[in-house]
Amino acid sequence: MASKVYFTDMHPGYGENLMDKLERLVKKAGINDVIEKNDLVAVKLHFGEPGNLAYIRPNYVQRIVRVIKSFGGKPFLTDSNTLYIGKRSNAVDHLNSAIKNGFTYSMVEAPIIIADGIRGDSYTEVEVNLELVKKAMIGSAVYNADALIVLTHFKGHELTGFGGTLKNIGMGIASRGGKLEQHSGMGTKVNESKCIGCGTCAKFCPGGAIEIMSSKAVIDYDECIGCGECLVVCPTGAMEVKEYDSADRVAMKIAEYTYAVLKNKKDKAFFVSFIMNVSPYCDCYSSNDVPIVPDIGMAASKDPIALEQACADLVNDAPGYKDSQLKTNFEPGEDKFKGLFPGIDWETQIKHGEEIGLGNRKYELVRI
Ligand code: SF4
Ligand code: SF4
Repeated sequence: MASKVYFTDMHPGYGENLMDKLERLVKKAGINDVIEKNDLVAVKLHFGEPGNLAYIRPNYVQRIVRVIKSFGGKPFLTDSNTLYIGKRSNAVDHLNSAIKNGFTYSMVEAPIIIADGIRGDSYTEVEVNLELVKKAMIGSAVYNADALIVLTHFKGHELTGFGGTLKNIGMGIASRGGKLEQHSGMGTKVNESKCIGCGTCAKFCPGGAIEIMSSKAVIDYDECIGCGECLVVCPTGAMEVKEYDSADRVAMKIAEYTYAVLKNKKDKAFFVSFIMNVSPYCDCYSSNDVPIVPDIGMAASKDPIALEQACADLVNDAPGYKDSQLKTNFEPGEDKFKGLFPGIDWETQIKHGEEIGLGNRKYELVRI
């Protein structure tokens, strides 16, 4: 049987703005079913790397916080620390970045608790015994919460084709060690014919793994953590994904980590995706490129796989922007993620998620 995915577009109604529509959407999709009075409710989101403007606006988050409180829940906002250096790699920098991006208490009306503690080592091991992940390391604040509401900015992603709910949960709630486990086996390689030796990749490499030798970038694979940052910053496209089947394995691990996070949240998790500012890359970068499609809307479901599939279909059904990182597949119905990252199979996360029992790819889109 198909799972229900509720959807609302970006047009305001008469006397109803987009926050009002979001509230109506999540109520219709049954957010109240996962919240009991006095539940500690983790609201997982990405606060955005400072400089990036594509992350979910705090205004939407405030409305979700108010809805949770109206059902008796006690919400807190959360995310885990990053693997790469950036401005969110420990809880102090992370909180400062969140505040700079507008997630102040006066705005969002909820405290922020970084899920894996001040240095990324406050995690809980969850045994899953799946194909690639046996025990997952997930942020303790989320593990210990009674309920989980996942707010996801749906967009492209350089490692997995798209970044959606599974990425937000599986990678986003993993502790630093968990992130490392998911990235291991992933790597980049230098196409020497395109490398101009500018050194940008070395400057941004969080692992200190790149050296410029004889005017070409050289990667030390003992130091590479597989984060993919060099792919994005290289101005000539000289950095390439090393093995595409490794990208598949990262996607599968993300799905398996999602399974671990949701293991103790049966009937206590709810998922909302914001299909707007559909930028080509992760919000972990300190800037965001123009969207690849027009703003589409907001979608909510209790089934993360159905939601993910619906969001991907909505993006692919939209017309692509010519002046974007999209190089092909501009027509409605053409695969935008293949147009962005031809070598990556974006469906792997969703397929594997369905195989391990996270949800159902068949969905019914209920427009409200
Ligand atoms: S993927 Fe690239 S940026 Fe990341 S650690 Fe490896 S070489 Fe450095
Ligand atoms: S950023 Fe690209 S072009 Fe510049 S040194 Fe690195 S691989 Fe070469």
